[in-house]
Amino acid sequence: MPSSWIDGAPVVTSGTTHQVINPANGSTVAELALATATDVDAAVASARAALPGWKNATPAERSSVLAKLAELAQAHADEIAAEEVSQTGKPVRLATEFDVPGSIDNISFFAGAARHLEGKASAEYSGDHTSSIRREAVGVVATITPWNYPLQMAVWKVIPALAAGCSVVIKPAEITPLTTLTLARLATEAGLPDGVFNVVTGSGIDVGTALAGHSDVDVVTFTGSTAVGRRVMAAAAVHGHRTQLELGGKAPFVVFEDADLDAAIHGAVAGALINSGQDCTAATRAIVARNLYDDFVAGVAELMGKMVVGDPQDPDTDLGPLISAMHRDRVATMVADAPKEGGRVVTGGQIPELPGSFYLPTLIADVTESSEVYRNEIFGPVLVARPHDGDDDALRQANDTEYGLAASAWTRDVYRAQRASREINAGCVWINDHIPIISEMPHGGVGASGFGKDMSDYSFEEYLTIKHVMSDITGVAEKGWHRTIFTLR
Ligand code: NAD
Repeated sequence: MPSSWIDGAPVVTSGTTHQVINPANGSTVAELALATATDVDAAVASARAALPGWKNATPAERSSVLAKLAELAQAHADEIAAEEVSQTGKPVRLATEFDVPGSIDNISFFAGAARHLEGKASAEYSGDHTSSIRREAVGVVATITPWNYPLQMAVWKVIPALAAGCSVVIKPAEITPLTTLTLARLATEAGLPDGVFNVVTGSGIDVGTALAGHSDVDVVTFTGSTAVGRRVMAAAAVHGHRTQLELGGKAPFVVFEDADLDAAIHGAVAGALINSGQDCTAATRAIVARNLYDDFVAGVAELMGKMVVGDPQDPDTDLGPLISAMHRDRVATMVADAPKEGGRVVTGGQIPELPGSFYLPTLIADVTESSEVYRNEIFGPVLVARPHDGDDDALRQANDTEYGLAASAWTRDVYRAQRASREINAGCVWINDHIPIISEMPHGGVGASGFGKDMSDYSFEEYLTIKHVMSDITGVAEKGWHRTIFTLR
């Protein structure tokens, strides 16, 4: 099976053989050869060669290729969802109702955005010149994506770049490359010129490092952990390349004293358990008003206990496995250590008797502010909770983190909602909900969660440069401003 897609065609690369494993049962989904640094060079050269043609295509031409891609993705939606389920273990309901339709909608959005360049109005700002703004494709984009939402992350990075007229080389996580390869194949089928969209499958150390530090790319975008994101930024900085980083999160879920308790309980369970908690915006820290705290903890534990954990292919399954046994064991260790720092495991905290890398939905109450499970990303189906003593304390706790990706505030008081949305330091604040995203609105964090945006017109901006063109309109040789430089006496 081809492991990479270079210059509009599948390529069997020369690196070591790698098996894509279904984490729900340990079976081999695909076997592929990984790419090497030499393949990265070939992919970047292909993207460089394809750039002028695609950059100079009209917005309408780019738009129609993306619209066709959305149509093809829709026609292959079931096949793509099945691939995503088998390589990630996510429940089929999530893949068919969230990952795949969300990705297709995003492609459709950028088919429109491709025709919607914006900038300042041309005018004679100096009096003697007409100033105008050109928006141009930034060039060759190198992008690196994680395993939790392989298709969506690829779409969020690649599609706005294509809409802007850039060419792309993407490195998906080597454990989940399949839907990214399918996306590239469909893009070629949709009429995307060869070389505009290349995929190199390989490990972070080999292929990721080679791509992030490549001298012949123009911008490096990344979604993944904060630690690796900083390494990617350092590699790109060697060449002075522009970067965009979507990193980790530790989202606060703030329940104020007047909140609708039932809504908060349902929101916390949905927000914490989506994709088995392997979601950078997942609700991870419940900070709950003391008058509601005990009922919240009891309600969340009861609802978590009702989740159906098992075969991701079964439409009745709520929770699939974690991505690998290694990751599951890491989550299990963090939970097992929580009581040493004062946490109380109210429900879950166990590995169920199932063949894959499953972990039960878990609630840890009474965690201290300094404990590891409160401060660090767990990236599993684990919610931690602690009480707060009023609005000031709640907002202080919400902001007591290096991350700033997403947050939610639960209240029926409009003033509290406004204050929370203003004061919580995050790229997104939901009011009385947690998780929904939409193509028209941006996603991206602050602080250790990175910078720059995915989705929406804001992400389109990441792939465009701003050029000022200033044209003399006087037609005279001796211009008025020359007097500042020299006077001809
Ligand atoms: P990761 O950082 O381990 O890996 C991400 C990607 O980087 C993978 O393709 C990996 O192969 C590659 N990589 C690893 N080392 C590299 C190196 N030295 N140089 C270049 N590339 C390298 O992250 P992960 O475990 O795949 O994903 C989980 C993380 O991603 C979590 O921290 C999560 O919060 C974050 N995430 C963030 C967002 C967001 O939008 N902010 C979205 C999804 C996931």
